[in-house]
Amino acid sequence: MKYDLSLSMLLQLPTGKIPIQEIPTNKKIKLFIKREDLIHPQISGNKYWKLFFNVNNYVEKKVEKPYIITFGGAFSNHISAIAAVGHLAGIPTMGIIRGEELKDKWRDNPTLLFAKRSGMNLQFVTREEYRYKEKLTEFLQQEFPEALIIPEGGTNEDAVAGVKMMLNDETKDFDYLCTAVGTGGTIAGISKFCEEDQRVIGFKVVDDDSLEDKIFELTLNKNFNLIDSGFGGYGKIKDENIRFINDFKEKYEIPLEPIYTGKMMQRVFELIDEDYFPEHSKILCFHTGGLQGIEGANLLLEKQNRNLII
Ligand SMILES: *Cc1c(COP(=O)(O)O)cnc(C)c1O
Repeated sequence: MKYDLSLSMLLQLPTGKIPIQEIPTNKKIKLFIKREDLIHPQISGNKYWKLFFNVNNYVEKKVEKPYIITFGGAFSNHISAIAAVGHLAGIPTMGIIRGEELKDKWRDNPTLLFAKRSGMNLQFVTREEYRYKEKLTEFLQQEFPEALIIPEGGTNEDAVAGVKMMLNDETKDFDYLCTAVGTGGTIAGISKFCEEDQRVIGFKVVDDDSLEDKIFELTLNKNFNLIDSGFGGYGKIKDENIRFINDFKEKYEIPLEPIYTGKMMQRVFELIDEDYFPEHSKILCFHTGGLQGIEGANLLLEKQNRNLII
């Protein structure tokens, strides 16, 4: 693979506006969704912004032997995005994947197949080994001193800075800003850079009690709160989630995926029903992308003889 030195700005700022679409509700509430999922066909949604400075700054350094290394699960949107970035830039990539059992099965997993086809070197580790990824990072950084090593989910200071680009004059107009929360980088960026009078709500899809502290460390703002939106746990998909996503797509022609955005929107509707938001509130939900995950989710659902995501 050839490294293209002319790519000093690999990830570009969008030339057009990211659409904000209204979703009707049956209460005196204005609900909108900002379509960050449309930003790039392969580096989708919040991952684009989280990688924006990480990757652009690295490319700018023009190191002799560029290499991007990162971590993720079998269906990870982040792994998929990094593989795509590497392919675009001609930078080799390595993905440390949680789950040794996938070693012989990656061809059956659309995310891993895409990563492999994009040239990513997939290294499978046990869940136990994966837990020590900080140690592994130290080791890899010694082994590949010029490599850019990005943590799981891409969350670091540069990622938080990139999320600022999801906010603009149009987003200032809303009382509530909503996003799904995995590792917390996205909500940290929104919380850090939004207007003082805006309230940020994170829809937490993982079971992690330390998240609130981690987010606070990155934003240093107290303008956010987290609402549990696990629906049975990270990566679990309930029939009611599938019904919601399919119904949403049919009504508004907006696709959602079952791990983050589907659960967030479903919970938002529940909160509206429960009158969580005061009358006349204006709510903006960020569609953080991740639609590549639908195919893998459907393969699992098919095996379980369940309804698929349309
Ligand atoms: C990664 C991801 C998130 C979570 O972002 P964090 O910054 O890790 O909290 C939300 N939505 C989608 C679609 C994602 O891929």
